[in-house]
Amino acid sequence: MVKQPLRYRVVAGFLTLLSIGFGCLFSVSGCSTPDDGWPNDRPTAPKVVVSFAPLYCFAVNVAGDDAIVRNLLTTTGPHHFNPTDKDARLLRRADMLLVNGLGLEGDKPEKMKKGSGNKSLKIIELAGKIPADRLYEGSCHHDHGDGDDHHDHDHGKDPHVWLSPDYAITMVEAIRDELKAADAGHAADYDRRAAEYIVKLRKLKEDGIALLKDKKDRKLVTFHDSMTYFAKTFNMNIVGVVEKNPGSEPNDQQLKKLLAICTNPESPVRVLCTEPQYSNSNAGQQLVNILKQKGVPDPVLVELDPLETVPQDQLNAGWYEAKMRANLAALAEKMK
Ligand SMILES: [Zn+2]
Repeated sequence: MVKQPLRYRVVAGFLTLLSIGFGCLFSVSGCSTPDDGWPNDRPTAPKVVVSFAPLYCFAVNVAGDDAIVRNLLTTTGPHHFNPTDKDARLLRRADMLLVNGLGLEGDKPEKMKKGSGNKSLKIIELAGKIPADRLYEGSCHHDHGDGDDHHDHDHGKDPHVWLSPDYAITMVEAIRDELKAADAGHAADYDRRAAEYIVKLRKLKEDGIALLKDKKDRKLVTFHDSMTYFAKTFNMNIVGVVEKNPGSEPNDQQLKKLLAICTNPESPVRVLCTEPQYSNSNAGQQLVNILKQKGVPDPVLVELDPLETVPQDQLNAGWYEAKMRANLAALAEKMK
């Protein structure tokens, strides 16, 4: 056997090491990698992954410094959830994955769990903690982003529960109980922080009701079918939806139906809501123009954010409350 020169062997050895390193980095079920998104200096803190921004706020307010919370979806909302390898890596050492449920995330949580190789990962559907008889019917359609264009499902129940502070509280209580079960040593701390945050959520609801209490415009047309829980909480009534499928403009028939509702002389509707996530859609402004022509007095567009997306650098513990208050302020400004 011909012995390789030393320099060659050193280089070959280095390349082998390098390729093992890359193998670890890119394989999910291979060796443990230091770069999986979790710090190594807090080995006993529960590792919590949430699917999207509102759940991050709920979890992080309860977790404090005792648990570590990571958020998956930022500018891509749950309607277009397409998990990456990085997401699966994050789940590999996670203790729990908190999701909304009611079909919002589709089958992605289970698929991600499989892909992560983490058999002990606990998937918790927070909306499942809300009694079923308090959920509204809904037909939010989800583009699963799997190349199968508008692969729509009717999930039965409206999943947008986080937009009600009451149900946010139910979700916070569920997170508190999960963290206490995972980390009994800090049970009192989770209890205390959850109680403090719930006080803030109750105040959010009270302030919103007070802000809008003298408004006569109680009827709204919303952009996608997302604001029912929000509207009920603050005593408003959604009488129509601009885009049944988020991202696709209404067809002639849908438009006709909406116009008939809004121009009803008995009770015209002047408040139309748009969403910042679909700001390139013209449908809202077109409707407002038509309503003007049809004699509806002073129709207006209000931007309401369903809190499904967030730029990563804006997400913090107070984001949910701030965005909810911004929605309420926008309505208060435009409603009469
Ligand atoms: Zn939605």
